[in-house]
Amino acid sequence: MTTAEIITIGTELLLGETADTNTRFLARTLRGLGVDLFRTTTIGDNLGRIAAAIRESMERAEIIITTGGLGPTVDDPTRRAVAEAVGAPLEYRPELWEQIQRTVRRYGRVPGENQKRQAYLPRGALAIENPVGTAPAFIFETDKNAIIALPGVPREMETLMTQAVIPYLQRRFGLHEILKIRTLHCSGVGESAVDEKIGDLETLANPTVGLAAHSGVIDIRIAAKAESEAEADRQIAALEADIRARLGADIFGADEQTLEAVTLQVAAQRGWTLACFEAGLAGALTERLSRVESSAYLGGERSDAPPSDLAAATASTRARFGALAGLGVSLTIETETIAVHLCLQTETGQQERRLTYGGHPRNAPRWAANMALDWLRRAALEAA
Ligand code: ATP
Ligand code: MG
Repeated sequence: MTTAEIITIGTELLLGETADTNTRFLARTLRGLGVDLFRTTTIGDNLGRIAAAIRESMERAEIIITTGGLGPTVDDPTRRAVAEAVGAPLEYRPELWEQIQRTVRRYGRVPGENQKRQAYLPRGALAIENPVGTAPAFIFETDKNAIIALPGVPREMETLMTQAVIPYLQRRFGLHEILKIRTLHCSGVGESAVDEKIGDLETLANPTVGLAAHSGVIDIRIAAKAESEAEADRQIAALEADIRARLGADIFGADEQTLEAVTLQVAAQRGWTLACFEAGLAGALTERLSRVESSAYLGGERSDAPPSDLAAATASTRARFGALAGLGVSLTIETETIAVHLCLQTETGQQERRLTYGGHPRNAPRWAANMALDWLRRAALEAA
């Protein structure tokens, strides 16, 4: 198995000024190539520490990808750090200086003398032309390693990765395997209940099955490694059919599908329109619903304080928007308990439920909204 490490460079990342989106992109890209990513590191713009990190990564992994620190200023130290890590001197490359000047002029600016710094690469490095920025990226090869230095600007990094680095990695490391992920989402069931039904699948070697819980939504992640996308799809489809047969309506959707969008879709299929009343949720339900493009959701009302009569508040919101169905949620956090009161009104009548939440108060609004949405979704499914 080919292994990789990522090193993102930039003091702004350590200061929390910039979110490290490059790691996420690179991790997903490597995953898709079937490369095992064992570690990621973030370092400030410090020559010695970057060089040390690269040296350490070279011991552990074959592919090392760095982002950032390729700019023309003195605190852009990646070129020197790679040179130091591999023990090669920096060498002036006149053809790169030509290229940099051409790009800078194309942007209508005059190339500055300090930009000439970007034309120095560790001796023997393969330059990667950067069609979207000035800093040339590069690859330094050793017998074991490929050290790939990419710019920090996410758009530039992504372009170079896609156009140049992926084909390079596939060639050099003979990467034929691909990894494909499919995520099934469940609501209205606990993680342990899901685990009980599919626990035996969680020990499979390929595809692998993993669970993750997010405030009342349980994700089942199926990851398949295969020689081709079609083969991965086939493996996933077989396992997904098995999981769906075991969990039935507990599964509400897959991949990018959200509980609010699916719930509104099921409601719309029943010919229902919906209005919501929420108290103590700070928009956790109504804002999510209003972001969905659906004609089924007519609108909602928010209150900070719990209503004295949730059913009456829900009915009044429902009447105000002229909706066929009404959903009311009230959340109260007291010292010991987090109480959720739900009310569902449809053409067949009205029901109420009282739940208590055992998680962190911070997650309570999202959990309450998920419980409410799931209840509505199941009611709409049953009304079929
Ligand atoms: P340039 O040639 O543009 O100077 P560079 O390689 O020197 O590129 P940096 O100066 O380190 O890159 O970063 C350029 C921009 O990209 C900055 O706005 C920085 O915040 C952003 N950036 C750097 N690293 C990351 C990262 N890991 N994730 C997201 N954004 C990043
Ligand atoms: Mg920087």
